[in-house]
Amino acid sequence: MAMFVLHGKTLGGGVAVGRARVLSTALRDAPQRRIAPGEVAAELNRLDGAIALVQAELQAIADDLPVDAPVEAAAMLDVHVQMLMDATLVEGARTRIRHQSCNAEWAYAAQAEELVEQFLTFEDPYLRERVIDVRQIVNRVLRAMLGNAVQDPRAGEALDSLVVIATEPAPADLLLWRNACAFAIELGGTASHAAIVARGLAKPTVVGLTDAASLVRDDDLVVVDGDAGVLVVNPDPDLLAQIEQRRAEHRIDRARLRSILPLRAATFDGVPVSLQGNIELPSEATEALAQGADGIGLLRSEFLFLNRKQLPDEEEQVEAYAEVVRAMAGRPVTIRTIDVGADKALPRTGAESGHSGGAHFAENPSLGRRAIRFCLAEPELFKVQLRAILRASALGPVRLLIPMLTHPNEILATRKLLTHARETLIERGQRFDPAMPVGGMIEVPAAAIAADVFARELDFLSIGTNDLTQYTLAIDRSDPRVAALYDPMHPAVLRLIARTIAAARRARRPVAVCGEMAGDPVATAVLIGMGLREFSMNSTALLQVKQGLLDLTVDAARQAARQALRFD
Ligand code: PEP
Ligand code: MG
Repeated sequence: MAMFVLHGKTLGGGVAVGRARVLSTALRDAPQRRIAPGEVAAELNRLDGAIALVQAELQAIADDLPVDAPVEAAAMLDVHVQMLMDATLVEGARTRIRHQSCNAEWAYAAQAEELVEQFLTFEDPYLRERVIDVRQIVNRVLRAMLGNAVQDPRAGEALDSLVVIATEPAPADLLLWRNACAFAIELGGTASHAAIVARGLAKPTVVGLTDAASLVRDDDLVVVDGDAGVLVVNPDPDLLAQIEQRRAEHRIDRARLRSILPLRAATFDGVPVSLQGNIELPSEATEALAQGADGIGLLRSEFLFLNRKQLPDEEEQVEAYAEVVRAMAGRPVTIRTIDVGADKALPRTGAESGHSGGAHFAENPSLGRRAIRFCLAEPELFKVQLRAILRASALGPVRLLIPMLTHPNEILATRKLLTHARETLIERGQRFDPAMPVGGMIEVPAAAIAADVFARELDFLSIGTNDLTQYTLAIDRSDPRVAALYDPMHPAVLRLIARTIAAARRARRPVAVCGEMAGDPVATAVLIGMGLREFSMNSTALLQVKQGLLDLTVDAARQAARQALRFD
């Protein structure tokens, strides 16, 4: 068959070549057959047997979760067991077998579709998103009935030459296939549950590959380019040769890059620069350190809260933050308070369940009750997190970072809650750092324009260029249809960044960039030219950025900044 290419969104991880393993699309392909009255008992038994088998499978996966599995994996498995046992689903399917003469697969798939329809009518985006979980669990049961063993790796099978192609894999599915050489996923954005796990596995991964699971067949030779965001099916020999060369060059580059690990990050003319790591999960701190991070510039704490039936309590949060502080051994750790509400949803909370605002609620979630707005609307939840962060500050240098500031009042309100949290800890006799710095993210144009005001109220600033770009250019960062217009190097964005850096310097406050552009050596040169000396990025970019700095003079960087600001 001829070569063809599918385009998706990149999750990074480099490039890999392997044989495709297409995970089942059983829901789409469930066989439909009218059964005779005498078959009813047997079909009911098949359904019950399949559900019992899946329950045992999920239990086995839960028992076997690797120690470094993301924290939400166990919680997700729990949710799946509950859905598996859901009375509407199971009893509804049994009724269809008994009274509508449907075979077991048909009855179960039809009942599941009805449930999915119901979920899709929910106003709450969190509940709507659970459709993915329903489909995953239904697929498992259908596979069990069909005797289809495609989904799980075969015993003893070597996975390292296989590329997993899947429609909506559950985090648990990806963990089962963790030794595959790459992942190509049809649905979900870069912030989906599966994307979170895939990123943690550091394998070439592309998401948003429409119809990949239908177009690719088992054993097709495929290339996953996680950096370019493409899946190539049946690559021709020329392309394979190019890829092989790229991989060889990549290996040499990585080895060469590793040689600069012990060097201090500084420009060619000796100006020191701090390079720190962005992490989503506490366990990723070790890798950041291994790549030479001077600290953690951004811990996206909301990832501890996603996909949970119950939010993590204070003790669990303290333990999570403490893990990062301990791993970083005296280097600063910047914990950003929960940033949910746009493309990341928490389980239903009191404030939102009381909301009856109709369709305009969450119509435009990036502009809605997101990040600090959400936290201030949920002070009890926020205070638990503030206490946990304070307690972690007793163990090492911790900084607190407030996301999505648009009004200085939000800083005052947060400081008030912090005072309250400190008082509680004093009453309890628990230790914390009374001088823990409180910083804010400058990621909304309002905050960048008035950066001098924000700098006065804060101990440090961190520029979130991912959102600053989205809000300045009016481009939804998770909408693939406008992705080509999304450009952090747009002079309007750069001018807001330059303005923020200048305001921070005048107020003598440290300032960093922690958006994705901090991991791009071309952009970092421009930022150095604007006077920035602190960067926080995905760990995999640390050495490459350091290499760029070692070759850069501040004069050349200033020249690059002048050109970029003028749109040259
Ligand atoms: C940003 O907006 O640049 C940022 C670092 O935060 P996040 O990507 O988590 O929104
Ligand atoms: Mg942001």
